Amino acid sequence: MEKKIAVIRGDGIGPEIIGEAVAVLDAVAALYGHTFTYDEVIMGGEACNRWGDPLPPEMLQKCLDSDSVLLGAVGGPKWNALPAEKRPEKGLLRLRSGMEVFSNNRPAKIWPQLADASPLRPEIVARGIDFIIVRELTGGIYFGEHRTDHAGEIKAVDVMAYTESEIERIGRIGFETARKRDKRLCSVEKSNVLDCSRLWKAVMHRLAEEYPDVELTDMLVDNCAMQIVKDPAQFDVIVTENMFGDILSDEASMITGSIGMIPSSSLGEGTRGLYEPIHGSAPDIAGKDIANPTGAILAAAMMLRYSFDLEREASCIERAVSSVLDAGYRTADILPAGEAGASCKKAGCRDMGRLIIEHLTKE
Ligand code: NAD
Repeated sequence: MEKKIAVIRGDGIGPEIIGEAVAVLDAVAALYGHTFTYDEVIMGGEACNRWGDPLPPEMLQKCLDSDSVLLGAVGGPKWNALPAEKRPEKGLLRLRSGMEVFSNNRPAKIWPQLADASPLRPEIVARGIDFIIVRELTGGIYFGEHRTDHAGEIKAVDVMAYTESEIERIGRIGFETARKRDKRLCSVEKSNVLDCSRLWKAVMHRLAEEYPDVELTDMLVDNCAMQIVKDPAQFDVIVTENMFGDILSDEASMITGSIGMIPSSSLGEGTRGLYEPIHGSAPDIAGKDIANPTGAILAAAMMLRYSFDLEREASCIERAVSSVLDAGYRTADILPAGEAGASCKKAGCRDMGRLIIEHLTKE
């Protein structure tokens, strides 16, 4: 298979972690006989420095001309004084809207080797945590009318609105994602109170008829927030609207331990996606070769699975990550304190990338 990948290395630790992710992609390509070519895209702080614009139109166009986009992270204190429109993070928002990615998919997975890093009780963690939250990204209350009336008592208004087609397109991503996993989809809403949620629920059940192989369940968002900490093992794929997904996905990432281990994908209508680790540019550790590149490497694995339909190759990367953890290697962020840490081997960013490549094996 031949694919062109737009690569945005970004700021802070971005170039370090993306360097390792690209090296892993090349190694997987060699192992399975694929050709990945890379188109370098400059976005964020470096683009601000060069052009005073975090995402010039020709850079966005490179992303639109690619088969998928791999992003490190952008931003940092150097650019904090710039006006909001000119800041590196604005480039990210323009990239998401330019690519029309309306679905954010974030896995919550605990690696058994890192179970101690979870704030949950060991017996809950032992049952396993491995689910994905599919969040609607371009609709709902964040994109509805926002207004503050000052006549009389001050009144603030934020409008939540969803059309049937907006719900249907995110619903399909939920069903398709579940189809590639354990075929269980939990639709999360607040249908006991909200009209938007009643429409949401009705659309999900209509879609379910097209996906008889996927088991659909419904859950109210308040209950879901409790169940994520009480019994996360029950979930395979959760699909939900923008604001509920924003809150639940942060809750879910907390229960899995390190921020450096978690990838995410954002998808639109086609197969082209935007893949990135969930963390930021970590300027405090940039250039020290201590960042954990695993979130970026797992984002590359997600790209293979969801944009290129290369399931074996994606699993190959995930197995290699697991083997490296089994062998006791840890970057600083996942190195346990005290005695537990003494039995681990400390690895830098480059070490971690090299070790993951060395552990890549065909099944
Ligand atoms: P951050 O995620 O960059 O860092 C938070 C903490 O986690 C820091 O202590 C950092 O050292 C650590 N950390 C993060 N990633 C790590 C990794 N891979 N390995 C080891 N440790 C890691 O969040 P922040 O400090 O709030 O933000 C820094 C900058 O990043 C800001 O300018 C922010 O706007 C930007 N940001 C960008 C994105 C993005 O590009 N998608 C996302 C979030 C934040």
